[in-house]
Amino acid sequence: VNGSAREVQTVLGPVEDSALGFVLVHEHVAASSAGILRSWPAIYGGRTALTDRAVEILSRARAAGVQSIVDCTTFDLGRDVELLAEVSARSGVTIIAVTGLWLDPSVTLRARSVEQLAELFVYELTDGIDGTGIRAGAIKIATEAAVDPVGGRILHAAALACMATNAPIITHTAAQHRSGELQAALLEEHGVDPARVAIGRSDDSREIDYLTRLADRGYWLAMDRIPNGALPEYGGQSVADRIDMIARLVAAGHANRILIGHDDPAWAGLLGDEDQRRRRASNPRSLTFISDVVLPAFGSRGIGSDVITKITVDNPRRWLSAA
Ligand SMILES: [Zn+2]
Repeated sequence: VNGSAREVQTVLGPVEDSALGFVLVHEHVAASSAGILRSWPAIYGGRTALTDRAVEILSRARAAGVQSIVDCTTFDLGRDVELLAEVSARSGVTIIAVTGLWLDPSVTLRARSVEQLAELFVYELTDGIDGTGIRAGAIKIATEAAVDPVGGRILHAAALACMATNAPIITHTAAQHRSGELQAALLEEHGVDPARVAIGRSDDSREIDYLTRLADRGYWLAMDRIPNGALPEYGGQSVADRIDMIARLVAAGHANRILIGHDDPAWAGLLGDEDQRRRRASNPRSLTFISDVVLPAFGSRGIGSDVITKITVDNPRRWLSAA
C-alpha cells in the first residue's frame, strides 16, 4: 500500500477509500434480533416491502448527497448482508457491513472464549459473512454503564480482531456514564490504536470535557444519533443541543475528530410498534435529516464548507481505511 488509496470492504466488494464520499457512520437498514428477518417476515410487512422501503429511504439520502453508510447491524441485531447488498445495488448508496456484537449475544455466543470470538470476527472481516463472501468492513461493540464478563470478552476479541486486520471499531456507549472512557481504557490495555476507534453515542453527552479528552487521546467522536434528540427516552440532549455540541467541539479545535450519523433504521424491530411510530413521526426525514437540517444549521453557526467536508468525507475515510 503506497499510502494514497486504500481499500474498504463494502457489501458489493472492495472500493478505494477515495470513492466513499459523504459517509454516515452509524445507520441500519433493519435492526432487530438474530434470525428474525428470515424467520418472521410477516412481522415487518414482508421482505419485498422492507427492501423497497429501505431503497426509497437510501435513494432519497443519495439525492441529498449521502454516498455511503456504515450499517452497524451486528449478528445479534439481525444482520442480513444479502438484504444490504440488494439495497445498496438498487439505491446507489455504498454500504459497509459490520462484525462484532451488540448487547444481545445469545447463550451460545456468551459461552465462547475471547479467542473464539476473535476468530469469528476475523473470519467475517477476511472471508465473509454467512457464507456469502461479503466481508465486514468494521467492528461494532457495545458497553452500557459497566462491563460484565461477557462484554469484556467481546471487547477483548474486538481488540484482537482490530489489531489482526486493522479494521475500524465503532462503539455503542452509555454516554451519561462516560462509558467511552471505560472502553478506551480496556481497548488501550489490549493494544488498540485510538485512531482506529470511533466512540459512539457521543452526542448523548452534555459534558464537553468527556468528549475533548477522548479526542485529545486520538479517538473519533461519533455524533451518531442526532435526530433522536427529539425523543425524551434518548436523554436530555435535544437536536439543537447536539448541533451546538458539535459547533463547540469545532470551535475547540476538534473538527478533525468528528463523525456523524442518524442511527434511524428503516425497520426498528427491537422497538414496539408504538415506539416505532413515534420515532418515525419525530424524524419524518429519515436519512436526509443531516443533509436537510444539520448541515444548514452548521452554516448558521459559522461552520464553513471546508469543515463540513472534513466531518462528512475526510474523517470517515481516514477512520475506515486508516489512510
Ligand atoms: Zn444503531
